[in-house]
Amino acid sequence: MTNPEIRNFSIIAHIDHGKSTLADRLLELTGTIPERQMRAQVLDSMELERERGITIKMQPVCMMYRHAGCDYILNLIDTPGHIDFAYEVSRALAAVEGVVLLIDAVKGIQAQTVSVLNMARALGRTIIPVLNKIDLPAAAVEENRQAVARLVGVAPNEVLAVSAKTGEGVVGVLTAVVERCPPAAIDGTGVQALVFDFEYSTHRGLIVYVRLLSGQIKAGDQLLFCSQGEKFTALEVGVFSPAPQAAPALAAGTIGYIVTGIKNASRRRVGDTVTTAAAPAPAVAGYAEPRPVAWASIYPSSQDDFTPLRQALERLALADSSLSFEEESSGALGRGFRAGFLGLLHLEIITERLRREFKLDLIISLPSISYQVMAPGAKEPEVIYSPHLFPAETKGYHIAEPWVEAEIITPPAIINAIVKIINDHEGVIMTTENFSADRNLLRVELPLRELMRSFFAELKTVSSGFASLSYQSLVADGGWRPAAVTRLDLLVAEELVPAFSRVVSLARVEAEAKVAVERLAEILPRQLFVVKIQARALGRIIASRTLTALKKDVTGYLYGGDITRKRKLWEKQKRGKKKLLSRGQVNIPAEVFLKMISSHQ
Ligand code: GDP
Ligand code: MG
Repeated sequence: MTNPEIRNFSIIAHIDHGKSTLADRLLELTGTIPERQMRAQVLDSMELERERGITIKMQPVCMMYRHAGCDYILNLIDTPGHIDFAYEVSRALAAVEGVVLLIDAVKGIQAQTVSVLNMARALGRTIIPVLNKIDLPAAAVEENRQAVARLVGVAPNEVLAVSAKTGEGVVGVLTAVVERCPPAAIDGTGVQALVFDFEYSTHRGLIVYVRLLSGQIKAGDQLLFCSQGEKFTALEVGVFSPAPQAAPALAAGTIGYIVTGIKNASRRRVGDTVTTAAAPAPAVAGYAEPRPVAWASIYPSSQDDFTPLRQALERLALADSSLSFEEESSGALGRGFRAGFLGLLHLEIITERLRREFKLDLIISLPSISYQVMAPGAKEPEVIYSPHLFPAETKGYHIAEPWVEAEIITPPAIINAIVKIINDHEGVIMTTENFSADRNLLRVELPLRELMRSFFAELKTVSSGFASLSYQSLVADGGWRPAAVTRLDLLVAEELVPAFSRVVSLARVEAEAKVAVERLAEILPRQLFVVKIQARALGRIIASRTLTALKKDVTGYLYGGDITRKRKLWEKQKRGKKKLLSRGQVNIPAEVFLKMISSHQ
C-alpha cells in the first residue's frame, strides 16, 4: 500500500556540492519559508554549522507542493556530506523512498558521490541525479551529464541540470520528485514508527523523530518504545516546517515528531520502533550500530563539572548515536570519559559543542585508535583503546591494527604527488582505473593510524581540493593486520603524563619523539625550578629538553637594606622549590593539553 500524496526524499552528495543551498531553493519555491525569513543554508541551524559552512545534523522538513492539479506533501531530509557523518546519511536513507543525488558540475563525481550512491542503491532507493552549479563559468555540464548517467545507469536526458544559487532549473527537481520518487510506502502492521533521530528539550523532554511506516499517531495516544517496553503519552505530534509545527495527527507514510515528556535522556538508540501501548506491533529492523574509529579521553577541568559533563554527553549522544562513551579515571585528571568517534572532525565537533552549548571547560587527550594486543602465551588478543594502557615493552607480543580501504578520485595530472602521499602513509595501491575522461580512481589500503595522520589534509593540499576521498573500515573482513608500532611516552619532571602517551609506528618514533618534546617545551610555562621534558620509547629516553627555571625574585617588593628579611624569604623560596621538586610536580595547565592535541590534527 502507499500514500499517494506523500513523497519522502533525501538530498545526498559529496560535501560542498550544494545540498543545503538546493534545500533553500526548494523551501522558497514551495513557500515553506517566507522570503523575508530566508537566509543561506537555512537548514544548517546549529551555530557551528553556520560558522563552518557544513551540515552536521540531518534535518527533516515538510513542504507542500501543488503539481498538475494535485497537492503533495514532500518530506525532505537534508544530510551532511562529510564522511564522519555518513551514519546520519544512512539513517536518513532508511526513512525515505527516493534521493536527489547532487553533483557539482565543476568538480564532477567525487568520492562521496559514489559512496552515498552505493548506500542509496543498497537500500533500493530511487535515484534522481542532478547536476548543480551550472551558473559557474567552469561548469562542464555535458561531460558530467554523460559521466553521471553512466554512473547511475540512466539516460543522459534524465540527469537534471540546475543552479541552486540562481534557482535555474530547480522547479524541475520538485517535478521529478513528484513524478519519479515512489509514493510513501505503507507496509507495516498496526502502528509502527521508525525512530530515526532524537532531540531533547528541557521543557518538553524527549522528542522523537519518526517515519510512520503504518497506522496513524495522534496527540494523546498511549504509545510505547519497542526496545524497552517503556510507555508514554504523545503530548504533541507535528511536522517540521522546518521549525516544529503541531498537527492533529501523523498520517501513515509521513515524517514528523512526537513529544514524549520523558525526562530521562540516557540509553536511547535510534532505530527503535514506536507503537501503540494497547496493541503493540513488532519492532521493525533498526540500524546497525556504528563502530567508532577514533577515541579520546575527555576530562572536566574542574571535577565539579563531572556530572554536568556526563549529562552533556548523554544529551549529545541522544541526537548522535554514533557517539559512545564510558567513564574512566586518571590519577592526575580525576574522573572523566573515554569517548569513541567516527573520525577526527566528529571529535572536533563534539568537543566544540560541549564547550559552547554546555559551557564546559575540558581537557581532551590526543585522539587514538584501537589495537589488538596479544601478550606472549595469551590465547586471545586484548583490544586496547587508550595509548597509556598499551604495553610499554612489546617483546614477544603480537600486535594488530585496523586497516581501511580508501577510494580516491583525482585528476590524472597530480597522480604522482598522490602516489607519494600514499607511500608516505604506508598505503598499498590495489587498483587504478580511468573513472572518466579526466578522473582516475585509485583503490588503496592503508592503516587507519596513517589515515588519521593528516592524510586527508595532505591530499587536499596537493590537489587544491580536486582529489576526494572516501573510506570504509576493513575490520569486518580481516582488516586487523600486524602492526610495527610502539608506545611513546612523554615525561615531565621525570613523571609520565598518561594523556600524552601515544602509539606510533617504529619507523617514525624518533621523529615523533623529537617533535613532541620540542612542542611541549615551547608551550609548557616555565616553573620555579628546572624541568626536564623527555620522550621515552622502547625502554629508553629518545629525546629530551631541559626547561630553565623561572627567575622570580620574591623579595622584589622589599626596598632597601632589610637583608635578614630578604634572606628569610629566599630561604622560604628555596624550601618551596625543594618541596615541589621532591614531589616532582608540575601543574600542566589545560591549554597545554589542548595545544598538544591541536599540534597533531
Ligand atoms: P553542502 O555541503 O552540499 O550542503 O553544500 P552547501 O549548500 O553548503 O554549498 C556549498 C557551497 O557551494 C556554498 O558556498 C554555496 O554557496 C555554493 N553553491 C551551492 N550551490 C551553488 C550553485 O548553484 N552555484 C554556485 N555558484 N555556488 C553554489
Ligand atoms: Mg549542507
